[in-house]
Formats: sequence, structure tokens, C-alpha cells
Amino acid sequence: EDKRTVNFGAGPAKLPKSVLLQAQKELLSYSGIGISVLEMSHRSPDFSNIINKTESLLRELLNIPDNYRVLFLQGGGSGQFSAVPLNLIGLREGRSADYVVTGTWSAKAAKEAEKYGKVNVVHPKLDTYTKIPDPSTWTLNPSASYVYYCCNETVHGVEFNFTPETNGPVLVSDMSSNFLSRPVDVSKFGLIYAGAQKNVGCAGVTVVIVREDLLGHALKECPIVLDYKVQAEMNSLYNTPPCFSIYIMCLVLEWIKNNGGSAAMQTLNKQKSSMIYDIINASNGFYACPVDEACRSRMNVPFRVGKKEGDGDLEKKFLDGASKRGMISLKGHRSVGGIRASLYNAVTVEDTEALAQYMREFLKEHQ
Ligand code: PMP
Repeated sequence: EDKRTVNFGAGPAKLPKSVLLQAQKELLSYSGIGISVLEMSHRSPDFSNIINKTESLLRELLNIPDNYRVLFLQGGGSGQFSAVPLNLIGLREGRSADYVVTGTWSAKAAKEAEKYGKVNVVHPKLDTYTKIPDPSTWTLNPSASYVYYCCNETVHGVEFNFTPETNGPVLVSDMSSNFLSRPVDVSKFGLIYAGAQKNVGCAGVTVVIVREDLLGHALKECPIVLDYKVQAEMNSLYNTPPCFSIYIMCLVLEWIKNNGGSAAMQTLNKQKSSMIYDIINASNGFYACPVDEACRSRMNVPFRVGKKEGDGDLEKKFLDGASKRGMISLKGHRSVGGIRASLYNAVTVEDTEALAQYMREFLKEHQ
């Protein structure tokens, strides 16, 4: 009964077992008060404690400077595709924004932003999302309101291992799928956001970290629940927040803190992803990852089985065999096919070793 399936899902994703046990323990009575977080008022002192603690843990774990506000919003990462332009594209005259488009998620964000202003994609359109165009080739517009990029493209497994230089405009990043997987210098950004359901919790809440001086520039058509200034003034309690999701995030952040914080996560994530990439690289093409080595994601490892473009039958066999060993959600995103192993913070070295072992055996049997 204790045995849990090994979950390599891209999100919602695995949560630490201790977090689930704690939530279970407190489900009937949170901290002895006789009701659960699912049932309490978002204006109660108990919930205030939870949301304040979540914020202070985030501030501590990411060293967030005092001139940044932390918001807990609904609408997911996709809500932020709209909220970012609605709040920031009016920062400067001309309402234009620069987008780096390295995969599905930044492409969607750019498309949404077109509703509210001019979008300049700073590099020629990519045929395949397998690399990051060299920043020296980007045509940045010095009068753009902001420069936007997705730090880790979850579908394609393309991750930035550097912070782009904008030479003026504020930098905005979608860190949904690599949030708190390593330290980050928040002061280089105007805004960072992340849906919680991959590295820091369950679905329902999106963290927004925004520099204070960027508040108050929302377009007049911005829905009030997405208005950063309103939400900042109300401590994310303009309306009912996703209370339980915030509580789960609080437990996950405590777990990250107790396990050494963002630096320790970085070490583990490097170790885990290398275990899988090493096997791919040493497989003589039996396993193939299409992504440039320089920007291979530590979070989502996409690969094909059998040959470069993937052998459908063999990939099905691979997934079936994995499932028989209790390893699930390894199927690549429907838009790209193949296999994708997501190795977020809660996925252990042991979980990863189980996958690595299986990949070695599968290779031996089928190459
Ligand atoms: N950005 C990234 C990088 C994502 O991976 C996802 C979801 N997988 C989203 C945005 C969209 O998030 P949501 O489904 O919460 O709207």
C-alpha cells in the first residue's frame, strides 16, 4: 500500500511524499482547529498565517529583494500570457514588446500579447524548437516595454542556462517549469511568474514576482483579478484565492528549505538529468534527443527511441515496459511524440536511477 507509482509527468507532477502525508494528516483538522484548509475563510487568521508564511519562504529561498511584490494568482501560466501584456505593455509609448520564441509556450504567450500591442519576435522563426538563437543575433527594440522569454520550454525540453541582457527594457520570464530548480538573481528581472503544478505544488495557483515600480500601468481593459497593482494592494486577496493550492505550496517550500534550498535543488537536478542524457549520448543513436547540448533542459528530457525520428512501435513498447515497472507519464507531448521524462524537484535520484536502469536494459534488448 505504501508503494507509489513513479511519476515522470510534466505537470501536474510528483509531490514529495512527506508533503502528501502532512496534507493528509491535516485534512480533517488543520493545526487542531477542527476544520481543514479546504473549508476555512481566506480572511481567517489561520489562512493569513499560511499565505504570509508561503510568501516569506519564497522570499527566503529566492532571495527576493524588498522592492519586489509576490502575488498568488489564478488563471495558470496561460492567465499570465494575458496578464503580462495587460499590465506591462503600456509601460512605454508605442505599446510594443519583444518576444523570444523557443517553443510552444512562448509562442502562445506572444500570440496572446498581439491582442494588446505590437509584438516583435526578436529572431527569425524557428522551424523546430531545438535551440536558442544566439542572443547576439536578436534584434531587440530599445523602446519595447519589455522583453519576454520562457526559461524552460516544457514540451520541447529547451532551457535557458543564461539570463538574457535587454539593454534597457525590463525582462519578463515564464519560469513555470523550472521555478526553484536552481538559484536565480531576481534583481535582473522586472517580472517572473510560474504555475505551481510542476516544481512547487499543485495546480490552481500561479506565483508572480514583480518589481514594485512596474505596478499601476495596466491597460484599462485589464480584468481586475489580473491587475497586479490591485492584487498587490490586497495581498492577493482581492477575491478568494486558491487557498488549498497555496497551502500545498507552503508545504513544498518548507520541504525545499529542509532539503537545502535552491542550491541543493540545482545540484540534484543536474545530477538527475545527466543520468538520463549520459545514456542517450552513449546509445549510438538508439536514443536521440533533438535539442542542442547547450540548452538541454534539466527538467524535461525529450527523446526518441530506435532511430532519430523515433520508431513508433518501439516507443510504444518502451512506454508499456515502463508502465509494467511502475513508471508512468513518460509519453512525449502529443504535439511532438516520442518520450519525455520530467525530472522536477520532487523526482528523486532513486526514481531517476530506476528509469536509467530500464533505459539501459531496453537498449541492450532492442539495439
Ligand atoms: N508555461 C509553461 C512553461 C508551461 O509548461 C505551461 C503548462 N504546461 C504553461 C505555461 C501553461 O500553464 P497552465 O496550464 O497553468 O495555464
